[in-house]
Amino acid sequence: LNRRLDGFGTTIFAEMSSLAAATGAVNLGQGFPDTDGPEEVREAAVRAIRDGRGNQYPPGPGIPELRSAVADHQRRFYGLSYDPDTEVLVTTGATEAIAAALLGLVEPGDEVVALEPYYDSYAACVAMAGGIRVPVTLRPRTGPDGDRFVLDLDELRSAVTDRTRLILLNTPHNPTGTVLTRAELTAIAELAVERDLLVVTDEVYEHLVYDGAEHLPIAALPGMRERTVTISSAGKTYSFTGWKVGWTTAPPELTAAVRTAKQYLTFVSGGPLQHAVAEALRLPDAFFADLRADLLAKRNLLVEGLERTGFGVFRPQGTYFVTADIRPLGESDGAAFCRALPERCGVVAVPNAVFYDHRDQGDPFVRFAFCKRTEVLQDAVKRLSAL
Ligand code: PMP
Ligand code: GLN
Repeated sequence: LNRRLDGFGTTIFAEMSSLAAATGAVNLGQGFPDTDGPEEVREAAVRAIRDGRGNQYPPGPGIPELRSAVADHQRRFYGLSYDPDTEVLVTTGATEAIAAALLGLVEPGDEVVALEPYYDSYAACVAMAGGIRVPVTLRPRTGPDGDRFVLDLDELRSAVTDRTRLILLNTPHNPTGTVLTRAELTAIAELAVERDLLVVTDEVYEHLVYDGAEHLPIAALPGMRERTVTISSAGKTYSFTGWKVGWTTAPPELTAAVRTAKQYLTFVSGGPLQHAVAEALRLPDAFFADLRADLLAKRNLLVEGLERTGFGVFRPQGTYFVTADIRPLGESDGAAFCRALPERCGVVAVPNAVFYDHRDQGDPFVRFAFCKRTEVLQDAVKRLSAL
């Protein structure tokens, strides 16, 4: 293993999912739904394979139907216009989009400012690109609407130097469930414009928002469209995490940079599923409302169960994850807590510390996923009540 990848061993998700399998525990660790996405979308994939659409290399940037559907989705939900031919790129999941964006846009030695805790692939991809990551820690704060992890804008400002190339954002945010507000995004946008930075924004949880929170793509703010690469994926919105169909929207020069890297990572992304995702993106509004309502009920079930057990709970406004504080239970080391949890009560969670450079900041927090069937969550809550 080369030195760039020092410290990036097995991902926490693989580790925790094998722990769940080995112990027979309820797996609320890795975030994947335990029911598959819409029947008609699965049928569309089967049809594409049967009809021979996409069984051979599809076009490099993605099939035209999917690129148009992505552009129409951005217009329909956010009023953003992108040219499907020059400003949309289909990738192998959001994960490849993140990798290709960083490899295509970061020079060795460039600094990349990222919110901490961060999704684990960010650190590894910044390292593979030869960049230097500069984490800005989201801070737990108590507010009128409950506890929330918030971005300190002064910390963000002071993290930017003359070597900063880009800001890597994620909203709605995994693992904290924070949805960046218009005011926070406006401040980030002003900083990006003032310091002439690029923004790469991971919006895979764009449709999973609750309690009236609104997802706002930073590309929609003044001065941002020309400097932003927006990333999303069919994995979360349509409950097909195994399909690995993602995309970017960005102005032509940025799209070309991401595409150049993508060409030598995977060349093109799998064909038949692209046809199915093109249909999924055109599902009626009721689909998105039902998804949110379903996940909201599940969020409440898990949040209330964790609260009854005595965890400090950060009620998420977005994503399908809950971050919980273990200190009220008399614990302080989330990694040790998660290692022991299957044995103690038959549940798997993920220690947030693995998503931090400043690991001590994450030590008291653990993450539970609630994209599971109601009876599975009820069972988990019952098991956790034995703590
Ligand atoms: N970004 C975040 C914040 C995620 O939680 C995930 C989920 N694995 C991804 C990116 C990756 O998405 P995909 O499965 O489409 O590669
Ligand atoms: N995004 C999911 C999570 O955060 C799954 C990630 C993965 O398995 N790489 O749990």
